[in-house]
Amino acid sequence: MQLKGKRAVVTGSTSGIGLGIARELARAGASVVINSFTDAPEDHALAKDLAAETSADVRYIQADMSKPDQCRALIEQAGGCDILVNNAGIQHVARIEEFPVEKWDAIIAINLSSAFHTTAAALPGMYAAGWGRVVNIASAHGLTASPYKAAYIAAKHGVVGLTKTTALEAAGKGITCNAICPGYVLTPIVEKQIPDQMKTHGMDRETVIKEVMLSRQPSGEFATVEQMGGTAVFLCSDAAAQITGTTISVDGGWTAL
Ligand code: NAD
Repeated sequence: MQLKGKRAVVTGSTSGIGLGIARELARAGASVVINSFTDAPEDHALAKDLAAETSADVRYIQADMSKPDQCRALIEQAGGCDILVNNAGIQHVARIEEFPVEKWDAIIAINLSSAFHTTAAALPGMYAAGWGRVVNIASAHGLTASPYKAAYIAAKHGVVGLTKTTALEAAGKGITCNAICPGYVLTPIVEKQIPDQMKTHGMDRETVIKEVMLSRQPSGEFATVEQMGGTAVFLCSDAAAQITGTTISVDGGWTAL
């Protein structure tokens, strides 16, 4: 129970990587706030189930990460936090000249600006406690680019820059800030793309996964949400106290190519 007594907030954590990280933090003993923009009974039920499964204190707080005020209010309603995981993110794929302006604005707001607002709200409490961990979920696309994902790639490169500045400002105060850069992880958002890709390429599921989705991932395997959770727990450990301002790729070798 290495994180017993620590309070964690994970943004965008009702599915996929955020939920995987919330689960591993709870299993390590932290009390955890999970979040999304909805306020459905299932959201609160998910928190209850996670609490029962891990014996940790888990609650759900609704906040829309596209709204600066709600980002800051999330931290306030959580009563501050020792561990902040900025995970909420969305995607849109289009050529730059056809990229809808509202999609650009939404991706920059949710994938990048939300991390600035939550970090700004969380840091004073971390400074007062003399301990803190900020873990930003960037992407292999925070380090490399692909066509048709301009907003996502700009936002994720921005997250890596924000990570470095946060680390420098907080250095020597018991606080670290790092970015995890996942390659392809088989979350609901990725799963949903498979039927379209099968149609577009005239391929079966296995061929699409191998030859289209994982073509840039030398391991030929998806990374898992459990691996993201394990990496986040490691970054919160004492062993990682001098790891700050950097990126950790969990991408099956994508960025080594
Ligand atoms: P997902 O769609 O399964 O999860 C995204 C979460 O964000 C959901 O819980 C959703 O409710 C929440 N969310 C969306 N908009 C929100 C808003 N306005 N306010 C609050 N919450 C909101 O996706 P995922 O694959 O788990 O992605 C999580 C993070 O990991 C994202 O930042 C994504 O860019 C990053 N990532 C994912 C992959 C991958 O292959 N899946 C790879 C690299 C990076």
